[in-house]
Amino acid sequence: MKKFLFTPGPVPVPEEVLSEMSKPIIHHRTEEFESLFAEIREGLRYIFGTKEEVFVLASSGTGAMDAAVANTLSRGDKVLVINGGKFGERWGKICSAYGLNVKEIKVEWGEAVDPDQVKDALENDTSIRAVLIQASETSTGVKHPTTEVAEITRERDDVIIIVDGITAVGVFPLPFDDSGIDVLVGGSQKAFMLPPGLAFVSMSEKAWRFNQESNLPKFYFDLKSYLKSAKNNTTPWTPAITLVIGLALVLRNYREQGLEKIYNRHANLALATREAMNAIGLEPYAKNSPSPALTAVVAPPDIGAGKIISGLRDKFGMTVAGGQDQAKGKIFRISHIGFIDKADTIAVISAVESILKDLGYSFDFGSGLRTGAEILAME
Ligand SMILES: *Cc1c(COP(=O)(O)O)cnc(C)c1O
Repeated sequence: MKKFLFTPGPVPVPEEVLSEMSKPIIHHRTEEFESLFAEIREGLRYIFGTKEEVFVLASSGTGAMDAAVANTLSRGDKVLVINGGKFGERWGKICSAYGLNVKEIKVEWGEAVDPDQVKDALENDTSIRAVLIQASETSTGVKHPTTEVAEITRERDDVIIIVDGITAVGVFPLPFDDSGIDVLVGGSQKAFMLPPGLAFVSMSEKAWRFNQESNLPKFYFDLKSYLKSAKNNTTPWTPAITLVIGLALVLRNYREQGLEKIYNRHANLALATREAMNAIGLEPYAKNSPSPALTAVVAPPDIGAGKIISGLRDKFGMTVAGGQDQAKGKIFRISHIGFIDKADTIAVISAVESILKDLGYSFDFGSGLRTGAEILAME
């Protein structure tokens, strides 16, 4: 059976990238590697929308989240975490592990944060030094209004905004320099169509100012070492060479396509999936602000998400993600990131209908597919 991966990380990788990564290993202290890395630095700047350096770490995304905190803040600093899902919760855990004073804005799962709440929190407590947020909260499928929140922190010299853009960078517009973001994090196994193992992080001038005073412990992820090495087109430690070779090709392809086309592709796949589910009577979990990276769908309560997920796996070889914690058994999540195209999306919509029919759900069979296919045909 042919296998399909519809999880919002890891994602399917294009075959040409897989074969690029099967080439013989090169040494990283060579001109060959340095010229590849020079190209990557440019490509990442383009995707991140920044003139700053974008660092390439050998870790999963959480490593870059860790680095973002360790390189900007200091022991006892008060931080404001936007917690509307598993990854928001993770910001809080990382900050607590470093001995920071964590204050949270709890957002109901499936909802986006209200920027006014952030504004009020910062006005009421001027000792807060950082706001930490997910541009796209993958556990709930919500897109938070990150650029609006960044407008608020931008006005303040003493507050930075640290953004987890792991399912946002390369998915929808989130221009680092133009929106006043201070730290932005990305990951290879999400929108970069690569296997897990690389994480990306970039820091604004303001964040570098915070870095000068930062006294949190850091060594492997000390971004000052990365900055110094980047200027020589290399990394301080042995990079994940295989993945870096794959990254160069992905970035070349992205550059050729252009950001607008990339953003439109994700928006179109997401809209088609959302409307298709809607047509068969299934609601999105993120009602007001869905992320174009994935669609979290509420399963019919009498059926539950578990049977839909196992049905897709057994009958169609398709892996979709379930819900976590309070959303477990309630939702299933279909990804639009990675090497996913219109044909894949048509297939998963149709497969969901087939499984629902098997499970005795009553609906107009084929109406989701018709709706989805019509939207996909428009792009
Ligand atoms: C995947 C993901 C992460 C990082 O998870 P890793 O397993 O460490 O790669 C962080 N934030 C969000 C929003 C994610 O989707």
